[in-house]
Amino acid sequence: MGSVAIIGAGAAGCFAAAVLKRRSTGTSITIYEDGPRPLVKVSKTGGGRCNLTNTFEGVTDLSKVYPRGTSLMRRLLKGFGPEDTLRWFSEEGVKLHVEEGGRVFPDSEDAMEIVRTLERALSGVTVKTGCRLVSLEKSGDVFSMTFNNGRTERADRVLIASGGAQKGIPFLRGIPTVESVPSLFSLKIDDSDLKALMGSSATVLLRLGGFSADGPMLITDWGVSGPAVLKLSSYAARHLAEKGYRENLHVRWCPKMSEEMLRSFLGPSVMSARKLVSTPPEGLSSRLWAMLVERSGLREDIRRGELGRKGLSRLASLLLDDVYPVSGKGPFKEEFVTSGGIDIAAVNPKTLEAKSFPQLYFAGEVLDIDGVTGGYNLQAAWTTGYTAAVAIAEVEKKV
Ligand SMILES: Cc1cc2nc3c(=O)[nH]c(=O)nc-3n(C[C@H](O)[C@H](O)[C@H](O)COP(=O)(O)OP(=O)(O)OC[C@H]3O[C@@H](n4cnc5c(N)ncnc54)[C@H](O)[C@@H]3O)c2cc1C
Repeated sequence: MGSVAIIGAGAAGCFAAAVLKRRSTGTSITIYEDGPRPLVKVSKTGGGRCNLTNTFEGVTDLSKVYPRGTSLMRRLLKGFGPEDTLRWFSEEGVKLHVEEGGRVFPDSEDAMEIVRTLERALSGVTVKTGCRLVSLEKSGDVFSMTFNNGRTERADRVLIASGGAQKGIPFLRGIPTVESVPSLFSLKIDDSDLKALMGSSATVLLRLGGFSADGPMLITDWGVSGPAVLKLSSYAARHLAEKGYRENLHVRWCPKMSEEMLRSFLGPSVMSARKLVSTPPEGLSSRLWAMLVERSGLREDIRRGELGRKGLSRLASLLLDDVYPVSGKGPFKEEFVTSGGIDIAAVNPKTLEAKSFPQLYFAGEVLDIDGVTGGYNLQAAWTTGYTAAVAIAEVEKKV
């Protein structure tokens, strides 16, 4: 039996170590972690509640939940999918429940329960903290690793699970990477109409640079956020980075209403004598509706019957395509994942072993795989960690 080094004690690295230890008890496994303790990010996930996976119910197009790494995830999820995650954590004693959108959380609502569960599963694994890998060399069949504390260690197999930050992989040479850009962020919009509505939300359809996403949008003090915006930021992550986060955001208010339905709602009716602002369409708050009426250039006190053909057209056009210039992305703390990393074409899709470096494996966000919010990113960490661990265990059996 040989020795395995895992770089990074995050979700992917720790899960891989736990799986490998159980499959290959005689293997010496060491996790090297830059930070002071393992699983720091997991403890912060889901606002401290840890949305550890998703049921994937209703997901018919995997590219809508994994905009990068779609085909690799399609393949790997067959080996370790969400039901496997549910089973694994349940067998470890974690009680789980499903919330809206298929999001899975521990009943304790405490991400630390997931951290403690993984830590328990690391029994027999050595974890060395405060060790940042700064150089990786291979001589014959053995890897030589140098850490920031000056120590050099050796291993027969290495699994890189160093997460999404590009700064984590400068030690890799000759393995193709895709430039890292942030994903899952809110959009900065300097618009006084919107700012006045801080705290309001509505279900909308958003379009930006050829990408679209629907769902709830939250108006904040710096722009817009919420599920639809985060999804859009994921789909358009690379495009927005290329544009320097300056683009036009097209908002379709009341997306459930067709243009015809909107025109008929705004047209002559039994409500003609009532003030337009006091009769918002379904799904729009009175405040938001009043802003849109004003934004379309109509008088605040206009009655529905006074709208006229031009007024009706202006308001309908605004509801169908309201444009806001984006001037940046939300603050750093809003960035949940990184798109980019190790090019998935550079790894064997069955084992996640580097095609050009035998016995070097990858798992987690370090790969160019990322998902939208809802538990998909942690699922990718479990899935890829499992895949690499099983592949390493197979090799260990033969030595
Ligand atoms: C605030 C927040 C909330 C989130 N909430 C959710 C959620 O609820 N559900 C969900 O699915 N996803 C969520 N995510 C995303 C999810 O946490 C990540 O996709 C996932 O943790 C990635 O796991 P990983 O193991 O690949 O990387 P990480 O968790 O980032 O772990 C990588 C580890 O490697 C270490 N490292 C880096 N470089 C080196 C080096 N050179 N040497 C040694 N160690 C190194 C790092 O210190 C780190 O501990 C959230 C992310 C954030 C930031």
